[in-house]
Amino acid sequence: MKGVPGEFCALRVIAVERGPGEFLPFEAAALLLVHGREADAFSCLVDPGCRPPEWLCRRSGREEGEYRRGHAPREAAAALLRFAGERPILIYAADGAELALLSEGGGSPTPEKVLELRQLAWLALPYLRDHSLKTLASSLLGEDLTWKAAEEVRLLCRLLQYLMDAWREAPSRLRAAVKGAFSEAGNPWHSHLPGGRGVPDAYPDLTETLPRMESFPIQEDDLPEPENGEDTDACGSGAERAVDFLSAGGPLSSLHPAYESRPQQEAMARAVAEALEDSAFLVVEAGTGVGKSLAYLVPGVLHARSSGSPLIISTYTRNLQEQLYHRDLPTLSRALGTFEYALLKGRGNYLCLRKWSEWCGQLSRGEPVLPLYGLTPAEGYAFLSSWMSRSPSGDLEEISIDLRLALAGTAERLASQPEDCLRSRCPFQFRCFV
Ligand code: SF4
Repeated sequence: MKGVPGEFCALRVIAVERGPGEFLPFEAAALLLVHGREADAFSCLVDPGCRPPEWLCRRSGREEGEYRRGHAPREAAAALLRFAGERPILIYAADGAELALLSEGGGSPTPEKVLELRQLAWLALPYLRDHSLKTLASSLLGEDLTWKAAEEVRLLCRLLQYLMDAWREAPSRLRAAVKGAFSEAGNPWHSHLPGGRGVPDAYPDLTETLPRMESFPIQEDDLPEPENGEDTDACGSGAERAVDFLSAGGPLSSLHPAYESRPQQEAMARAVAEALEDSAFLVVEAGTGVGKSLAYLVPGVLHARSSGSPLIISTYTRNLQEQLYHRDLPTLSRALGTFEYALLKGRGNYLCLRKWSEWCGQLSRGEPVLPLYGLTPAEGYAFLSSWMSRSPSGDLEEISIDLRLALAGTAERLASQPEDCLRSRCPFQFRCFV
């Protein structure tokens, strides 16, 4: 592994979770890495005193008897601790089976000796919504977990290399700020991560790194021209085109083999298209199963394309919003030809830069902030600043669930609220996510 400095021990334990923080270990493996090179390896099977579950034998390809001949957990832990010596230990996460097993050997490493790969993933790729080991392995390396410790510990090292490379791509000022915060927190990544140029103030808010808008983002001139070939005389009225699109044999049916046209849906689509063409108000009530979403999306998108006007859809529930954004609009984009769409949520879903900056100010002045869960405020700052400075939208849902849990509600407390937004008096208005 190029550019992975220092000497440390990577550790992976295959275990079955019996309850929160309780694990039955069945296999362990460790690698000694010196400046990125594998210098030594250790592995053993473990017998926790009970039968391995059938699914584990099936996935690992091992016989039950192999596990039953393994070391007792205490012996395995002692052997791993001897192998690691005084070196820092790289594991996926501190709440996993590795530290639970080592504690049985009577010598758990102190927190400043534990390098958590998940923390590096939070830093290097903060916009991934899922930082589980399984997802990191499949999305970054195209690999699956094998449930064999010796293979998975090498997978851990390949991920380390990937994430280190990704972190080197982060803006220099962010890297310097994070290194300073980790140093303050006593986080061991401090001495393994590359820093950046300059020595920033403690806890800089980094808001100056966000793009500045000079005015409201959408100007009249930015709106797309009506598309060629969308002339309603040549192609029929919007209502006819919407109904054709939804009919059996239409473009949508080619994407779904079991597609069935629905007369009520076509009637609603026709009414919506006519209302849009006439600039009229329309209220529609339709039961479950009619396919209301497509009945307004299809004429709406067709009208937007032919008129060059944006289409705004306001939903009552977040679930419907997610369904339209993640399922219906991508489907329509495939069937109708690509068009741009974006998701806008209520302001309470977005980071308020003024509150963020005030929180950073509190940290830099040493004022108390609400406690986090398993993280120091300095570590919370490192992960939040890494996300904030590279987020395309400031949507707090971009932060993965495990990190949001560790932040213990801090991210949500920094969200914009209508009653405390300073709007045009806000010094951050031209970089504001809202
Ligand atoms: S304009 Fe409002 S939401 Fe945006 S940063 Fe300022 S106070 Fe926060």
